[in-house]
Amino acid sequence: MRHKIAALQKLSRNLWWSWNTEAKELFKEISPLLWERVNHNPVELLHHISNDELMARLDYEFGEKLDNVTEQFEAYLTETDTWAAQNAPSLTEKAVAYFSAEFGIHESVRIYSGGLGVLSGDHIKSASDLGLNFVGITLFYKEGYFRQSLNQQGWQVEDYPLQYPESLPLEKVTNPDGTDLIISLDIAQSEVFAQAWYMNVGRAKLYLLGTNIPANEAHYRDICSRVYGGDQNMRINQEIVLGIGGVKLLKALGIDTAVYHMNEGHSAFLTVELLAKELESGKKLEEAKKSVKQQCVFTTHTPVPAGHDRFSRDMMHYSFDKYLQNNGIAFDEIMKLGTEDPSNLHGLFTMTVLALNLSRSANGVSKLHGEVSREMWQHIYGAESRKQVPIGHITNGIHIPSWGSGFTDSFWRQYTDSLDTLTSSPEAAAEVLAKVPDEQLWGLRYRLKRNLIDFIYRYLSNQLFHQHIYTSYMEADSSKSTKNPLSPDVLTIGFARRFATYKRAPLIFSDIERLTRIVNNPAMPVQIIFAGKAHPHDDAGKHYIQQIVEHARLPQFKGKIIFLENYNLGVAKRMISGVDVWLNNPIRPMEASGTSGQKTVLHGGLNFSVPDGWWPEAYNGENGWSIGSGEQFEHHEEQDRHDAEQLYDVLENQIIPTFYDRNLDNIPVKWLKKVRNAITTIGPVYNTHRMVKDYTMKYYLDE
Ligand SMILES: *Cc1c(COP(=O)(O)O)cnc(C)c1O
Repeated sequence: MRHKIAALQKLSRNLWWSWNTEAKELFKEISPLLWERVNHNPVELLHHISNDELMARLDYEFGEKLDNVTEQFEAYLTETDTWAAQNAPSLTEKAVAYFSAEFGIHESVRIYSGGLGVLSGDHIKSASDLGLNFVGITLFYKEGYFRQSLNQQGWQVEDYPLQYPESLPLEKVTNPDGTDLIISLDIAQSEVFAQAWYMNVGRAKLYLLGTNIPANEAHYRDICSRVYGGDQNMRINQEIVLGIGGVKLLKALGIDTAVYHMNEGHSAFLTVELLAKELESGKKLEEAKKSVKQQCVFTTHTPVPAGHDRFSRDMMHYSFDKYLQNNGIAFDEIMKLGTEDPSNLHGLFTMTVLALNLSRSANGVSKLHGEVSREMWQHIYGAESRKQVPIGHITNGIHIPSWGSGFTDSFWRQYTDSLDTLTSSPEAAAEVLAKVPDEQLWGLRYRLKRNLIDFIYRYLSNQLFHQHIYTSYMEADSSKSTKNPLSPDVLTIGFARRFATYKRAPLIFSDIERLTRIVNNPAMPVQIIFAGKAHPHDDAGKHYIQQIVEHARLPQFKGKIIFLENYNLGVAKRMISGVDVWLNNPIRPMEASGTSGQKTVLHGGLNFSVPDGWWPEAYNGENGWSIGSGEQFEHHEEQDRHDAEQLYDVLENQIIPTFYDRNLDNIPVKWLKKVRNAITTIGPVYNTHRMVKDYTMKYYLDE
């Protein structure tokens, strides 16, 4: 029995369980209620269960299920005939080191804020599935990103529950003598120490650096408190720990690195540490730069100039003076690498420019974003035309197994062996779909929507209770004949993402009367679910949340438009699987890629989006809907008016009538045709297996 307990412990300490349905079910089965209470964290769950209970239960059928999962897990870890072994054998030996300021792997590990983190999490999982030797590098944030609640006025309130290493699947990195491995860094005039941890993500390892240790001066302990927390000074310190600390850690571990991948500019200081190492080995500056450039690749994610990290010369000087002196590098040589204007080294230092200057390849994250990036950085290369700017693109995707669900997985497994097969090619998807009757597909939609609604009522009762508006809200509904007005019969639209203002969350409220008619049409009603966090410093984003909450409380929208607090990976999974339509209305071209809409597809959801990010590539006229055709206006008001008009128009004239157009068996045949089209055209392309293969063949393998 002891070895079974050990197997369960081991399983809880590798995040592989988070994308394996049977492993998840196993933990949930121990105690469904406790599983909810510990936020789906198996390490925490096992802390609450005595060995006596485990021993007794393992004797019974539970033990058999565990054996089954353990077998799959061990087979996964020891598989040698992987995609990488066949297609990129050198990268099963030497490592790809992937640096990112955030990783969204599971809701119980709160070291992410939004899309960038979710992308990193999905990237490392696919890299593991495909068999690359892959290490992630990030920070361990003691407080993570905030937990969101709303006060009675609908204003966002942030709190920061602590994350304890012992409650997470974190392992300490140790020296051969068993002591903690500590990285030493020069920041300003101080020596700062970072402790190293790692987490197992399938076959891959994710290393995390944290500064909350007694050896540090008090104000340096907080560097890694919060994801994107604090001021500019905090930001530069975080980026020094991530970039420079990360390279030092890899060297200390003796990891033989084939390529350093900077996921966004936050980690670009890694190039400075690599440069210092090259100089130390005796190379001249120009030669050293060339050598660093040969080792690095860079992905940019920000299509707006103001969104890029920039530091003043003074701040750079303050933070790097000692470091550069110790390494014999002249300050202006570093400034030159990060300036947009080499004739003036007194301007701002831009992390993206540093990354572009010191990487052998650079890419945007969708076709459109590639174009925008080439235009935005043309001046850095002194290129005559945009076409000559050496920035390519690889469109983002999602890790399919992570975005499935118990019901969806078992649905597809009636027709094929796995979601992987379903998404291996459009032909494979079409072949599977040919076996699926409309009645079954429609049944899946009902099942998933019912799950979402059940979830929302449980979730809302908590949320409204602490907002002290529980009774007024819920009872207003019970005065009508239906107590729970949300209904799986009703067309359900979802909108959830960070509340950055360019994403224009409240756009659908532009014309309240029109929206009132749409939502309350007795023959063809609509319900809308919102969720999302605004960055703690972003008051404009918080006003957007407040606006939506106030609208949702209007009598005509009560119980039909809902705002769910504390958007995170768990809430996202519920929403993307339950809704019929996923709405996305950013200001084009400010959404570099976006990925949330890709998550809905295998659940039978359809996208309704401004042609921005990944959508113009994927949209074919039959697999969802477009809001306008990419018309761009100079003034925001004009743009909003135009896009809102398009949104209402398509909603009223296409989406709603198609959803409610039923055959004699009450099946929306035309709707399901679109669902089938989306599954065949989007599923096989917009996933991270395809994406990581593209990165490997195009950028990781050294030509
Ligand atoms: C997928 C996801 C995102 C990214 O959504 P976009 O629409 O691409 O901005 C952000 N947050 C969470 C929790 C997600 O799951």
